This record gives sequence, structure tokens and C-alpha cells, in this order.
Amino acid sequence: MVRETCPLRQDGVPNAADEECMKLNKLDPDLDIKNPDERGNSRFFTIASSPLEKDYIMITTKITQSPVPDGTGESSFKKRLIELKAQEKVQFFGPMGEFVLNEEKKEDRVFLAGGIGITPFHSMLTYAYQKNLSIPIALIVSFSTAQDIFWHKELQEIATNNPSIKVIYTVSRPEKSNTKWNGETGRISDVLIKSHVPDFLRPLYYIVGPPAMVAGIEDVVKKIGVSSEKIFIENFTGY
Ligand SMILES: Cc1cc2nc3c(=O)[nH]c(=O)nc-3n(C[C@H](O)[C@H](O)[C@H](O)COP(=O)(O)OP(=O)(O)OC[C@H]3O[C@@H](n4cnc5c(N)ncnc54)[C@H](O)[C@@H]3O)c2cc1C
Repeated sequence: MVRETCPLRQDGVPNAADEECMKLNKLDPDLDIKNPDERGNSRFFTIASSPLEKDYIMITTKITQSPVPDGTGESSFKKRLIELKAQEKVQFFGPMGEFVLNEEKKEDRVFLAGGIGITPFHSMLTYAYQKNLSIPIALIVSFSTAQDIFWHKELQEIATNNPSIKVIYTVSRPEKSNTKWNGETGRISDVLIKSHVPDFLRPLYYIVGPPAMVAGIEDVVKKIGVSSEKIFIENFTGY
């Protein structure tokens, strides 16, 4: 682990007990890859665990494990990532980044995510729940198909136990889903936002996901009248 801003434990691992440090939201693992493709041997990943989880740091990613028509398939980085063994040591750069839940600000929040863009919100919602924060938060996340969905049950449980938190999942291509889905369908739209966020001009909006998806969602949010200074964005470049 290469230190950027946070003290490390003696074994070189970032000190997950350092809550302030773990509030920084990104890590950059650097894998030992024999013949890396042109994308290289490191990536940014969001810390998906809560800053209060002291024993581990969670990152979450998408592994398709199916070759794409042009033959590229997964990057050499992801292939190596899948091969990692328990206890294998990996160097990280970080933590860094400030796309975090600032609990000093009491404004309502709307978290909008496309698929894997849910990772920072998993961290923030878990943290808000663990600290019993009363900041009203609505998460709206879209996945292509019902089988792509993850963390649904866990986040719904958080919402059930904290009346300030709302969790809405939507499936944009239900016709391609091979598991049953009874929830919202369609992309994140003005109608969907307005139906779950009655006072939709009041909150701060956080948008995360692959850049094309983020741009589309940002357009929707601006179209309903939210001003730019209330919109915060994290692009998962690379997708
Ligand atoms: C601030 C920030 C935070 C991020 N947080 C996360 C996170 O929490 N989780 C996460 O999963 N990602 C996150 N990302 C994105 C992450 O850094 C990677 O870019 C992403 O996971 C894609 O990884 P990959 O390049 O290994 O491609 P893959 O995931 O292997 O593939 C992605 C797409 O690129 C294609 N592709 C793969 N290799 C090549 C190639 N050599 N040439 C052409 N096409 C190729 C694939 O076919 C596929 O369509 C974040 C990025 C940023 C900037």
C-alpha cells in the first residue's frame, strides 16, 4: 500500500480504524500483471464499505466473464483480479477522493446510480444507517436486467429500519430479465424521480455510473429544474 493521505498500519495496510481516513472514497489497486493490455495494471475503485467497518475495506466491480464480439472481453486487469487468492498482497494507492456524505450538511439527498455506480452509495447508506443519521436520503438505481441487481435486500432492510432512507431499484430492460421482477421498470426518468421525491427541487443530487449513463441522468435532473450547484457527479470512466 502506498500512502497518500492516510497513516498505514505496521503491515503497510491502510488503517481501517481511522474513520476520517476511510471517509475518503477511492482506492487505486496496482496488480502484478505479466502482459498488461493497453489499459494498464491499475484502476480506480470506490470504497463500498462504510467508514465505520474497521476490519476490512470492500471494493465491488463488474465481471462479465463473457467475451465481447470484437474479441477483447475482459481487460487483463480484471482477469488478474479474478485470479487473486485470499491473503495475496496487493498494492494500493490511496485512499483519496471526496465524493462522500458530508453529514454536516443537513439537506435532503437524492442518490442516482446506473448499475455499478451504486458502490459509493452502498458505503454512504450503510454509514448513515450505522450512525442513525436523520438526513433524508432517496437512492434510485437502475440495472439493465433483474439478474444484474445486487444489494437490493440489504439496502431495503436499511430503508425499512431507518425512516429517513428510501431505496428504489428500477430495471430498464425487464424483457431481457430471466428472474421475476415486480419493482419499477424503465430508466431513471423525470417521472420516476418525481414519483419518489415529492419535493424534488429541494435535495442535493449525487449521480454516479458509467459516463454515458451519468450524462443522461444529469440531463434528466437538470430538465426537472435542479440547478447545477446542487448536482454532484462521479464518472466511472473505463466503462
Ligand atoms: C472515480 C472512479 C471510481 C470508480 N469506481 C469503480 C467501482 O467502484 N467499481 C467498478 O467496477 N469500477 C469503478 N470505476 C471504473 C474502474 O476504474 C474501471 O475503469 C472499470 O472497472 C473498467 O475496468 P476494465 O478497464 O478492467 O474493463 P472491464 O471491466 O474488463 O471491461 C469494461 C468494458 O471495456 C471493454 N474492454 C476491456 N478491455 C478492453 C481493451 N483492452 N480494449 C477495448 N475494450 C476493452 C470490455 O469488453 C467491456 O465492455 C471507477 C472509476 C473512477 C474514475
